[in-house]
Amino acid sequence: MVIAMRKGCPKSQVAKVLAAIREFGLEPRIISSDPRTVLAVVENMSRARAEEIADSLRDMAGVEEISSFDQSWKLVGRYFRGEPTVIEIGGLRVGGPEVAVFAGPCAVENRENFQETARAVAKAGAGGLRGGAFKPRTSPYSFRGLGEEGLKIMAEAREITGLPIMTEVLTANEVELVARYADVLQIGTRNMQNFALLEAAGETDRPVLLKRGMMATIKELLLSAEYILARGNWQVMLCERGIRTFETETRNTLDLSAVPLLKQYSHLPVVVDPSHAAGKRELVPALAAAAVAAGADGLLIEVHPNPDQALSDGRQSLDLPGFAGMMRNLAGVASAVGRTVREATP
Ligand code: PEP
Ligand code: MN
Repeated sequence: MVIAMRKGCPKSQVAKVLAAIREFGLEPRIISSDPRTVLAVVENMSRARAEEIADSLRDMAGVEEISSFDQSWKLVGRYFRGEPTVIEIGGLRVGGPEVAVFAGPCAVENRENFQETARAVAKAGAGGLRGGAFKPRTSPYSFRGLGEEGLKIMAEAREITGLPIMTEVLTANEVELVARYADVLQIGTRNMQNFALLEAAGETDRPVLLKRGMMATIKELLLSAEYILARGNWQVMLCERGIRTFETETRNTLDLSAVPLLKQYSHLPVVVDPSHAAGKRELVPALAAAAVAAGADGLLIEVHPNPDQALSDGRQSLDLPGFAGMMRNLAGVASAVGRTVREATP
């Protein structure tokens, strides 16, 4: 339920409406205070109860209009914020004019390898580093990451490059540990509906990159993001990383329609991961360019100094010159749609 107050109405009238909502046992939220105060009640309730509450608020001084949300998502929706949300991560802004590029290996394998990658991608114009320390692997016998040691290696690379670090957290119990090191918590495709994990991430002050489940709809992605915002953390980036279809030539099918759709429905920034969608490195530059053309606010790109030796996802990882080439290629596409990408440093 959305309650819009009259423009310029005194604060005392707003306070009375807030108090009346609390008397119903509900916690009102203030969506905006300029140019008029708009309040919201996001709890689900029966139609009869909503009508009862609306009837009692409607005649209160200062109340101009009461309406109901027209979608099942609330806080993530455009109704809540007309302006796009810009997430600040150190010196990086996601959702502004610059397309934020997070790059790095699928998994942190060792210090030397990660530092070499971090230095190279930073030089080529990446705005953030990615890498997995806790890896969700399809087979329990595959390399599952270095754990906390991997987080330490990433934190050192942040010191060296000045770039923020993003890494996946697999369980609610590990959120506190991962958040101690990471600038951005990544929630992976397999965990998009791990509601305990979403809520634990929502309790932190760390930006979250939420990946779309490989078999999840756009609506389900938005409702998963809603779990994080409902816990008070508004810094969520929605990530399209490909979905399962009948097609087997690619690892997943990159659903580029998700980009304009998510931006239409939500104020949250949208990031595209062409690496996990394609599964083949030779497709990554074209899909990255298409994502930028479609309006993506950021990209997630797997990069490895020696992809054929990588302990995970080597087939889809760009090598260091390949990443630099992709970045050069993106500049023109970005400028055609009024965006920029960070330039390489000599
Ligand atoms: C990853 O980013 O390495 C990863 C495991 O991604 P996803 O959750 O999209 O498979
Ligand atoms: Mn990977």
